[in-house]
Amino acid sequence: MKRIGAHVSSAGGVEQAPLNAAAIGAKAFALFTKNQRQWQAPPLTNRQIEAFHTHMATGGYRPQDVLPHDSYLINLGNPDPSAWEKSLHAFIDELQRCALLGLPLLNFHPGSHLRQISEEACLDLIGEALNRALAATQGVTAVIENTAGQGSNLGYRLEQLAALIHRVEDKSRVGVCLDTCHAFTAGYELRTEEGYQQFFTDFERIVGLRYLKGMHLNDSKPDLGSRVDRHENIGKGKLGVELFRRIVNDARLDEMPLILETIDASLWPAEIQLLYGMIESSPA
Ligand SMILES: [Zn+2]
Ligand SMILES: [Zn+2]
Repeated sequence: MKRIGAHVSSAGGVEQAPLNAAAIGAKAFALFTKNQRQWQAPPLTNRQIEAFHTHMATGGYRPQDVLPHDSYLINLGNPDPSAWEKSLHAFIDELQRCALLGLPLLNFHPGSHLRQISEEACLDLIGEALNRALAATQGVTAVIENTAGQGSNLGYRLEQLAALIHRVEDKSRVGVCLDTCHAFTAGYELRTEEGYQQFFTDFERIVGLRYLKGMHLNDSKPDLGSRVDRHENIGKGKLGVELFRRIVNDARLDEMPLILETIDASLWPAEIQLLYGMIESSPA
């Protein structure tokens, strides 16, 4: 089945997130396990962790239906050594928070070279950070998100995602999350049936579908290849609804979190309904 949901708020504590997800009819969800705009966060308490598990059960969520997102401050490709160390330690903390919550995935943006080093050198730094972070933790897979390639962000080509996976020693703990808005603004034509099939053929050849752990379902304000990251609500942007019809009818995307990060959260219940409504029942 399809596991469609949204990146819900964890205001008031992570334990609120499963309740927020259930309230909008989500069958999967994303969350920040700490304030995404601050480096430091108080550790999760036992009481919070217990409440999180209780609320997961109430909402009928399995751990693999949850795709936590790391802080926006973290840049594992930072060319400055002390800034890189700071990011690495924050990333390890994020992995540990997921492990404490019993969640097997952590979604992150690869990193930015800040126009100070080459893309290749930046990929090396990210790979080194991932190996250090995975060695320091257990049980959580680092899920690389493709980016729009805005500014100096890496991860906008499938080849870059593959290059990062190549650098990770423990391949069982690395994966990919595909963001539809980012792929489109990075230059991948996803509006046509032909473009869609080509993209997944290329993904299988370059990255490998076995690494795909989830998707972000976002329409796009900017146009194809603009390299600008601006999400839009489903059907209101340049992508249009047909891409999402293909996604919800694509059996390769069963049983993984499919997460809305569209800009107007008040539309999420309607968007989830719309997406489930587009699933064509298979002929008997
Ligand atoms: Zn993201
Ligand atoms: Zn995203």
